[in-house]
Amino acid sequence: MSCTARFECPHCRTPLTPWDSPELTSWAGARQYVCFNDDCPYYVRGWAWMQEHFNVRASYRHRFDPATGETGPLPVWSPGALKDRIVERAERSGAPGSPRAEGARRGAGVPADQDEEESAHA
Ligand SMILES: [Zn+2]
Repeated sequence: MSCTARFECPHCRTPLTPWDSPELTSWAGARQYVCFNDDCPYYVRGWAWMQEHFNVRASYRHRFDPATGETGPLPVWSPGALKDRIVERAERSGAPGSPRAEGARRGAGVPADQDEEESAHA
């Protein structure tokens, strides 16, 4: 029902976060939209999958490329990996509250209890 420019993760319904890809990746610095929800089932499953298949401690997050409309995995090596490149709300990153919840509610009407769960992990 959303007609805004927001995109949401098909795995956890969390609004995707604007993220600037590093120059050295195949996206060459282009803006991507990534699910940075640490409770996302896609991301949570990724740890076990990578361990089992490649014996490495890594996972991946859901990524959407607005330029091509394609989605794919964004490999990460830790829960905090790549988060320093998040575009939105970076200037508020010291806030004790949950600034993400505010944006999520405004954007997609995410239930409040989901936000509670997120901040409990932080
Ligand atoms: Zn997700």
